[in-house]
Amino acid sequence: MTGRPASLIITIDGPAGAGKSAVARLVAKRLGFHFLDTGAMYRAAVAVAIAEGIPLTHGKAIADAVQRVTLRFDWDTDPPKLYAGDVDVSQRVRDADVSCHVSPVSALPELRRVLVTQQRAIAREHGRLVTEGRDQGSIVFPDAGLKVYLDASPHIRAARRAQQLRDAGREADEQQILAGIMRRDQGDSTRADSPLVQPRGAIILDTTSLSLDEVVDHLEALALQRMAEIDCDGNEGFSDAHTTTE
Ligand code: C5P
Repeated sequence: MTGRPASLIITIDGPAGAGKSAVARLVAKRLGFHFLDTGAMYRAAVAVAIAEGIPLTHGKAIADAVQRVTLRFDWDTDPPKLYAGDVDVSQRVRDADVSCHVSPVSALPELRRVLVTQQRAIAREHGRLVTEGRDQGSIVFPDAGLKVYLDASPHIRAARRAQQLRDAGREADEQQILAGIMRRDQGDSTRADSPLVQPRGAIILDTTSLSLDEVVDHLEALALQRMAEIDCDGNEGFSDAHTTTE
C-alpha cells in the first residue's frame, strides 16, 4: 500500500474548457488532497475590479485591491467556495462579463505576481495539492511531483462548457462560448508574462474522446504511481526553490 507523502504538488494546465477544474477536483477528492482553482482567482480579481470601478487595464490598482480584500477559499465545502473579503464570489466569477475580461486582466504582470505568491503560500500551507490553471507546471510549481497538460478540440471544449452551464441551470449559447474560448486561447497563449504552454516534463493528455471518469481514472493512476516512486526514492517532488519570479 502506497503511503501519502507529506507534500506533493500535482499541476494540471491546459486551455479554457479542457475540463481541468472538474478533473482536478475529482482527482483531489480521490487522493484526499486539496484542490486549487487558480482560474477562479484571476476571475475574482476581475470581479473585484468591476465592483470597485477600477479600470481593467490598471494592473497595479487591481493587484492592490486583490491584496486589500483578500481572496480566500473555504476548503470545507465541495467544491471549495471562493470569498473576496466576506463576499462569496463563487457564482459571480462565472458571469459573462467576468469571463469576457479575464484573459486580458490575467496578462497584467502586477496581478500575476500577487496571485502567484498567494498560490505558493497556499501550497506551503496545504502540502498535498492538485492545482490547475495555465502556468502551474511551467512557472508557479516547476518542481511539481506530477505535471499534466490536458487538451481537447475547441468544439468539444465549448460543448462541455455549455453543458456545465445548463447543468447549473444557466443559459448557454454554444457558438458564443466557442468564440469566447478561442479568443481566450489566443490571448492566454500569446501574452508576454506566463503564456499557456505545455510545461517541460508534463504528461500530455488529449481528452477529446475521453469521458470525465476516464480522465480522472487515468490521472489517479498516474498520481498513485508517482506516490509509489516517492515512497521508494524519498523525493517528495516539491521544493521551495522556485520563487524566483516573486
Ligand atoms: O480556468 P479558467 O477558464 O477559469 O481561467 C480563466 C482565465 O484566467 C484564463 O482564460 C486565463 O486567462 C487566466 N488564468 C491564468 N493563469 C492561471 C489560471 C487562469 O492566466 N493559472
